[in-house]
Amino acid sequence: MSNKHHPVLIIGGGAAGVTVANTMRRQNAKIEIAIVEPSEIHYYQPGFTIVGGGAYTLKQTIRNEADLIHPSVTWIKDYAETFQPDDKTVSLRSGDTIGYDYLVVCPGLQLDWDKIEGLKETINKNNVCSNYSPDTVEYTWECIQNIKEGTALFTQPPLPIKCAGAPQKIMYLAADRFRKRGTLDKFNIEFLTAAPGMFGVPFFAKALSKVVADYGIKTNFNHNLVAIDGPAKTATFEVTDSEGNKQRITKNFDMIHVTPPQSAPDFIKKSPLANAAGWIDVNPKSLQHNKFSNIFGLGDAAGTSNAKTAAAIRKQVPVVVDNILSLAESKAVREGYDGYGSCPLTTSLNTVMLAEFSYDGKVTPSFPFLDPRKNRFIWWWGKTTGFPWLYWQIMIKGYRIDIPHLESYAKKFLNEN
Ligand SMILES: Cc1cc2nc3c(=O)[nH]c(=O)nc-3n(C[C@H](O)[C@H](O)[C@H](O)COP(=O)(O)OP(=O)(O)OC[C@H]3O[C@@H](n4cnc5c(N)ncnc54)[C@H](O)[C@@H]3O)c2cc1C
Repeated sequence: MSNKHHPVLIIGGGAAGVTVANTMRRQNAKIEIAIVEPSEIHYYQPGFTIVGGGAYTLKQTIRNEADLIHPSVTWIKDYAETFQPDDKTVSLRSGDTIGYDYLVVCPGLQLDWDKIEGLKETINKNNVCSNYSPDTVEYTWECIQNIKEGTALFTQPPLPIKCAGAPQKIMYLAADRFRKRGTLDKFNIEFLTAAPGMFGVPFFAKALSKVVADYGIKTNFNHNLVAIDGPAKTATFEVTDSEGNKQRITKNFDMIHVTPPQSAPDFIKKSPLANAAGWIDVNPKSLQHNKFSNIFGLGDAAGTSNAKTAAAIRKQVPVVVDNILSLAESKAVREGYDGYGSCPLTTSLNTVMLAEFSYDGKVTPSFPFLDPRKNRFIWWWGKTTGFPWLYWQIMIKGYRIDIPHLESYAKKFLNEN
């Protein structure tokens, strides 16, 4: 039970919330911190891609929340429901109201399965799978193992979504499985995306077009999945042409990997903290709320234009923690976040293209001398071993190591074709 007032109150104990709590604790042994988080289980979601591709188990992505939160941080096992920022209080589902001096809001985003007609009824059946939820990711691997030939579709909804590369990462892992089995030529693989290109950053989009061509994958841009009929194995897309006209087309499939549409959680959308699009209305560089200076937002729920990734959170957390501790000492906040995010694109079962970028599509790698567009084994090792270690042992535990990411590292390659 809480004492109903906590100087620092955090909403959501996922990648962002636990990291904020533990980092703040390391920087300030005395400050009293509480987290509102309903779930007893914490998932390493970046691992879901390789679970779906059969290179990792779901179990490897799971830890008990209780083992992650520092024992001196109060864990309130409940849901936040409404915010009263003028009174500095949050109301919980249990009926409790908690006061705070500083509020950190990071409840992630919501998967809108019901925005696609028929999806809820057929997901996890009829070869309709998705890496996006722990409840569905294992079925992706089952589908990839069982399918012998035919049409395999991979869809991507309108942005923003978590890790915008993930809808295509699983496609490359599936295609490489088929290639290794010697059956790639028995498949018609298609990528159908609501976006106008392969990737938001042109530098990487061009390199990905080569990966797609190498597997013989067909790309369909401006194709938004709107309905699915599992038993009939058909998927309907709304296609937008260059003049903005829309028409519907239906495709048959033998297997389909669906990335569901995503939005801010409903309780955020209808709160006074939301911007017009429903996300938490924060300054993109300081992560401080635009109206309420004692509130900060980060992670997937924040209304910032960075890639919604755990990698972004690694760079956002120190900014939020420093800014709250500065405000507590009546000092100014710093605009320290440059929009960094990263997407390790699994281009095969032993290679990754490590896309790292910041606001305005600036290419900002962490590794000097290495062309980020190259498909490398070292980054596959990172994806399967190094990055999970960095997440559990460094980031979540609240250790700060600032690995610089610099545009200058990419300059040489930006001028090459
Ligand atoms: C398939 C897939 C692949 C990905 N690949 C990568 C990758 O390669 N690299 C990368 O960096 N990132 C990747 N990501 C993205 C990354 O996992 C997310 O960006 C990150 O987990 C977001 O952290 P968060 O804390 O904002 O939200 P989450 O980690 O989702 O946590 C939100 C927490 O808030 C809690 N919550 C929800 N509602 C409430 C409420 N009402 N009250 C209190 N608490 C609440 C939830 O229970 C949850 O614990 C991937 C994600 C997916 C799904």
